[in-house]
Amino acid sequence: MNLDTLPRVRLAHLPTPLEPLERLSAALAGPEIWIKRDDCTGLATGGNKARKLEFLMGEALARGAEAVATQGAVQSNHARQTAAAAARLGLECHVLLENRTGFADTDYNENGNVLLDRLCGAVVHRCERRDDMDAALDELVASLPGGAGRVYAIPGGGSNAVGAAGYANAAAELVGQAETAGLGIDAIVLASGSAGTHSGMLAGLLGAGSKIPVYGISVRAEAAAQQAKVLDLAQAAAAHIGLGGQIDPAGIRVDDRFVGAGYGIPADSTLEAVRTMAEMEGILLDPVYTGKTFAGLLGLVREGVFRAGQRVVFLHTGGSSALFAYPAWFGAERAQAA
Ligand SMILES: *Cc1c(COP(=O)(O)O)cnc(C)c1O
Repeated sequence: MNLDTLPRVRLAHLPTPLEPLERLSAALAGPEIWIKRDDCTGLATGGNKARKLEFLMGEALARGAEAVATQGAVQSNHARQTAAAAARLGLECHVLLENRTGFADTDYNENGNVLLDRLCGAVVHRCERRDDMDAALDELVASLPGGAGRVYAIPGGGSNAVGAAGYANAAAELVGQAETAGLGIDAIVLASGSAGTHSGMLAGLLGAGSKIPVYGISVRAEAAAQQAKVLDLAQAAAAHIGLGGQIDPAGIRVDDRFVGAGYGIPADSTLEAVRTMAEMEGILLDPVYTGKTFAGLLGLVREGVFRAGQRVVFLHTGGSSALFAYPAWFGAERAQAA
C-alpha cells in the first residue's frame, strides 16, 4: 500500500479505540462482540467521514481549492463532517441537502446535523429527491464563483477512490491493533451505503494480507446492486493505493434485510438496536446507519452465522447527531405503544 505517498491532511483522532462490549456479549451468550470506535474520530461529533476527508481534503489543498462542496441527504453526517473539516482548514463550504426521506418536520429539517452544518459555517443548499445527486452537485459547483477551478467537489459520502483510502488506512490500523493485542478476529460488520467504507476496508485488508471476512449491512440499496457498487469502488481503491492484487468478488457480502422501508426510515429492528446499545453499553448509535448495521449484527447472531467462540468486530461509523433529528421515533409515546 502506498498510503504514505498520497496527499493527506491530519484531521481525525487516530487510532480509534478497539474495545470489548462485555455486557452485550454476556447477554447474547454467543460470540464475543468488540467495537471499533470510529465514532470517536472527532470533527463535530465524529464518524467515518473524518477518515475519508483526510485524503479528500489533502487533494483539495494540493489543487489549491479555496472552497469545497458536497451533497447528501438532509441529515447527512458526511455534510456535517465536511463542514467541520472545511472550518478547520479555513475553506468555504457548500452542502447540497436532498430531501430523500420526504420528512417535513422541523427536527428532521433543521436540528441534528443541519444545525451543526450551519454552526460550522457551511452554506446550506437544498433540493428535492433526485436520481443523480452528483450531477446536481456539479450544477451547484458550476453556479458558484470560480466554478470547478476554485471549488473542489466531494462526491456523496466522500466515496470515491480518494476517500476510500481512508478506510484502507483503517483496515491497516485495525489489523495492527488486533495483532498487538493478540486478538483473532473472525468477522467485521459494517454499514454499506455510498460504499467507501466497505470498499476501502476490503482494499485495505487485501493490502494487509488479511483474510477477515467483512459483512456489509446495506442501509439503502438491494444486495446485488450494492455488491456491484462495492466491487467497482474496491477495485478503484486498490489501484489508487497501489495494490497489484485483485478484489475477490466472492468476498463481497451484502445483507439488505435490515433496510426496512428505505433509506433514513428506521425499522423496528433499528430502534431496538439503538436502544440496546445505549442501555447495555452507554454507546450512542444512529437511526440511519449504525442502528441498521447493529440490527444486522444482532440478526446474524440470532441466526447462528456468528457463534460462541468467535470474535466479531462491529465498526461504529458514528452518526449520533442524527438522533436529535428523530426525537419522535424514540419518544415515550412510541416506547409505550411498542
Ligand atoms: C456515511 C455513513 C455510513 C456509511 O458509509 P459509506 O462509506 O457511505 O458506505 C455509515 N455510518 C454513518 C454514521 C455514516 O455517516
